[in-house]
Amino acid sequence: MPRKILVTNALPYANGDIHLGHLVGYLQADIWVRFQRMRGNTVHYVCADDTHGTPVMLRAEKEGLTPEALIARVHGEHLRDFTDFGIAFDNYHSTHSEETRRYAEDIYARLQAAGLIDVRAIEQFYDPVKEMFLPDRFIKGECPKCGAADQYGDNCEVCGAAYAPIELKNPRSAVSGATPVLRASEHYFFRLSDPRAATFLRAWTRGESRPGVRRLPPEAANKMREWLGEEGDNKLSDWDISRDAPYFGFEIPDAPGKYFYVWLDAPIGYFASFRNLADKRGGIAVEDYTDAGKAAATGTEMVHFIGKDILYFHALFWPAMLEATGYRTPSQLCVNGFLTVNGAKMSKSRGTFITARSWLDQKLDPEALRYYFAGKSNGSMEDVDLNLDDMIARVNADLVGKFVNIASRCAGFIEKRFGGLLGDIDISATDAFAAAWAADDVAAAFEARDYSRALRDIMRLADIANQYVNDRKPWELARQQGKDTELHTVCSTALTLFRDLACYLKPVLPRLTMQVEAFLDVPPLDWRGEWQPLPAGHRIQTYRHLTTRIERTQIDALLEANRASLAPISAPATTTPATTTISIDDFTKVDLRVARIVEAAHVEGAEKLLRLMLDIGEAKPRQVFAGIKSAYAPETLVGRLTVMVANLAPRKMKFGLSEGMVLAASDPEGKHSGIHLLSPDNGATPGMKIK
Ligand SMILES: [Zn+2]
Repeated sequence: MPRKILVTNALPYANGDIHLGHLVGYLQADIWVRFQRMRGNTVHYVCADDTHGTPVMLRAEKEGLTPEALIARVHGEHLRDFTDFGIAFDNYHSTHSEETRRYAEDIYARLQAAGLIDVRAIEQFYDPVKEMFLPDRFIKGECPKCGAADQYGDNCEVCGAAYAPIELKNPRSAVSGATPVLRASEHYFFRLSDPRAATFLRAWTRGESRPGVRRLPPEAANKMREWLGEEGDNKLSDWDISRDAPYFGFEIPDAPGKYFYVWLDAPIGYFASFRNLADKRGGIAVEDYTDAGKAAATGTEMVHFIGKDILYFHALFWPAMLEATGYRTPSQLCVNGFLTVNGAKMSKSRGTFITARSWLDQKLDPEALRYYFAGKSNGSMEDVDLNLDDMIARVNADLVGKFVNIASRCAGFIEKRFGGLLGDIDISATDAFAAAWAADDVAAAFEARDYSRALRDIMRLADIANQYVNDRKPWELARQQGKDTELHTVCSTALTLFRDLACYLKPVLPRLTMQVEAFLDVPPLDWRGEWQPLPAGHRIQTYRHLTTRIERTQIDALLEANRASLAPISAPATTTPATTTISIDDFTKVDLRVARIVEAAHVEGAEKLLRLMLDIGEAKPRQVFAGIKSAYAPETLVGRLTVMVANLAPRKMKFGLSEGMVLAASDPEGKHSGIHLLSPDNGATPGMKIK
């Protein structure tokens, strides 16, 4: 029976840019959704901008906009960023919508009818100049514990103490600078202290979303036990769900001047976005997913992907509120940790507070980030570290060196020698591949959001496929008489293995696999049905470059661009002036050729060298020792094209004969680190002369 799942992502707040820290959770959800669909399950994947509250109101005022105009602009920016990273929501709505208002009013009315709304006066800081009550984060003063200046109203960033804003010494309003005064006002509370809430939440926390699948990750369940205390404890306090005017939000019915607190209507935005989707698309029975009775009868699931910082709202208030009002409660919470960059908190001064847009502006492939984050995601609440050097190495080695390399080494022969038509398959090779392939294990890893394990298994298979190509050497078969059939079989087999790898990678790399589907001219790949090889006689399309290596210079520019918001952009690096001039005759003495690296290996006992075998269209490849070990892992080089000096006198080295030289760029002044091997543009082939 196919599953029916409503999947949501936490709603980003509508007053800032999407950064890479946000993307961790969105990518984890998007990969899961794509996996479920490839398995034949029905998924509705929704999100929205979280638009209400004081920060949006004040930000709009500062920009001279209405809140509506601000949130409309930010909505466009957010959706564009998500779309460009391949995050394919079915609907991206807004909490400032009629659907949200209707659900919020309905839930509120049902809470009232159940006797779970209390009204009582509380004292709060009020800004007499701005004439508004101040949220904790808009009050600053000296820490009551350590005396540190300029601390927020809820906790001290110096000593870590938590306190109430009225405990601050010398408080002032961060909005107007005025000294706030205490003023009483009536607030509306959801009675979370009602013992039924704790009883329900204890059972819900212990529950499973499906047989054998915990509703909450273990770390989150532990947190819940801490918050709920022992059986019989009543540690939960009532939840203040109202705010006073002026406030950007929905006014509470029959309570003029009182507004629903932004955190009341944010998760309600999940239902609202889903309702909006159903109204636009038709054919979706919304209540099967939102009504407690109907959800139980139809077996639908509701899965929330959230960051660990908002666990409290999603694991306490939200399910308790839904349970008390006859709505369905969440089946599962998938909770992600924070992002660190190079092992540290994201920092604007280091340029590691990286916006999604700046990544795209540097022409970095969004799928490189998808791949790297997936490789770092194991389904737990652990923080994810983006180590930039590791990312460059991993993406270049796996995607370029292992995956794409299979097609780039075989497709050309099919086109040039066999008119684009595939031949028979070497079944023993596909059998070896199938034997190593534990499809159920990989599916289980995707299901458990342990993408790191899934990718490890998939790359192990890529190694097997590459080994097959290395062993059978199509580039040698192509030069031998009477080996056409063998060449045809080897390339056709390799492309079938490549198709299988693309299928397994599809949830992580949707755009790349779409290009693969177009290149192989096959219908959308999925994980259903019987395995079939690509049939003999099937015509493939011309192979086009599928992905590019990440260069260190792009990452340096990315960090610089994100630092730029604080510091002036630094002057461009000075170029080294050209030395003495030479004549064209001098230059033409150098025989430069396009070379394909057919082998690359470490050299025992050599600190800086790699041994390369270079195909420049001669009978056998040339051996060259190149001092590029610090910049390249050998497996990332196999298959790529570069430029070599072909008429350099051979040199006998300790490790063997070096028959030429490869060309690479580096900065003689050492300001920019790294060694960058040259590559010709698409279309160049081994042996071409460079003039
Ligand atoms: Zn302090």
